[in-house]
Amino acid sequence: MVNKYEKMWQELGLDVPLHNKLLATIEENFLKTVGAQANRPQMMSYFDNILAQSHGARVAELLEYKQQGKKIVGTFCIYVPDEIILALGAVPIALCGGTQSSIPYAEQLFPRDICPLIKSTLGLAFSKTCPYAPIKSLAVGETTCDGKKKTWEILARKVNFHVLEVPQKKNSLDLTLWQQEIMEFKDKMESLCESKLTPSSLRQAITTTNNKRRALQKLNEFRKFDPTPISGLDALVIMQAALNDEPSRFTENLNKLNLELGERIKQNISAFKKGTKRIMIAGCPAVMGNWKVHYLVEKAGAAIVVDETCTGTRYFENLISENGETIDELLKAIAERYMKITCSCFTPNDERLEKILQKIEEYQVDGVIHYVLQYCHGYNIETLKIDNALKNKNIPSLKIITDYSEEDIGQLRTRIDAFLETL
Ligand code: SF4
Ligand code: SF4
Repeated sequence: MVNKYEKMWQELGLDVPLHNKLLATIEENFLKTVGAQANRPQMMSYFDNILAQSHGARVAELLEYKQQGKKIVGTFCIYVPDEIILALGAVPIALCGGTQSSIPYAEQLFPRDICPLIKSTLGLAFSKTCPYAPIKSLAVGETTCDGKKKTWEILARKVNFHVLEVPQKKNSLDLTLWQQEIMEFKDKMESLCESKLTPSSLRQAITTTNNKRRALQKLNEFRKFDPTPISGLDALVIMQAALNDEPSRFTENLNKLNLELGERIKQNISAFKKGTKRIMIAGCPAVMGNWKVHYLVEKAGAAIVVDETCTGTRYFENLISENGETIDELLKAIAERYMKITCSCFTPNDERLEKILQKIEEYQVDGVIHYVLQYCHGYNIETLKIDNALKNKNIPSLKIITDYSEEDIGQLRTRIDAFLETL
């Protein structure tokens, strides 16, 4: 059957047959992982649909915004302050690739030994299968790892690109640099949108993203229950939808799901039995299209109850003060909030370790799985420091270094099974 959005994709200049193949692979992967779960909350159908329509209805919606004069801004990292984009009437959209299917196209042009997230993103852009590429007015990258930094130089030759310099330490000089970067980004966005920020538009945008983060915090409060009323795989789907959906609509629907989860707890409904082993995933993000490790862990009989990742707690913890009166005060509050994110690009990044230990207590975690994407040196090396602290507290851990392919699934299954048996 012809997809009703084929004409739109054609007009956007996509390679439609290749794009159809890509969508079919992602759908197949979704159905055999997320879709195969039993006893899911009913409201998950909303979030499933956000993922299913990320190349269809959402793109059509963005095209309508574009016709109304709104700018579409592609982002690659949770350090990009959505608040500034939203306050200027523009639309932020996360562009990181989570699918294996696009990686061969990147490998024709780029070194094979770089992180799969970067290769997947590049592959989508270079194989004419990313519908966001032709509609965005600006892409915003950052300097969080060498792979990304060098990738931006290549992408900047093709598209309007802005790079935010994320400092590597968290001293006062670094905060000053970061505040200047935020200021420069504000100037860039104002010139792109041909309008000026006002305190009220910025405050309103801060409230919008705070509300979204509050709803995600509430969802994660429910995951502290035993049995958790929602699987880790479903919580991941919600996070992936958070990076694509319109923020207020997302919040409204997540609040409905949270009501349902409250009811499930009252009625003792869960996909897990009480006493199921509780796992923390710590490390790299798992963006849309990537459900591999979450699926394997829960299929093996454990429950993922917290994600210490950028598709988890790092995205929604810490709100921004809504009390600022002036643009400068509000921008300072934004800069301070984003500097609290504990990406492994920071050194010495001890706050990350403290947060992990704190979450292990709060979520009653039985074991930690370090999730490291191949060639992500920051998160890989940081596991050593974290493991030392975990050993002192007798918390077992397992390090998984993987990519997006299915080649290592058998081996991962064996290692995960063996790890869960030790808990
Ligand atoms: S892991 Fe670091 S670079 Fe990647 S999205 Fe998170 S903050 Fe950004
Ligand atoms: S996962 Fe690691 S290597 Fe890959 S883009 Fe993020 S920080 Fe860079």
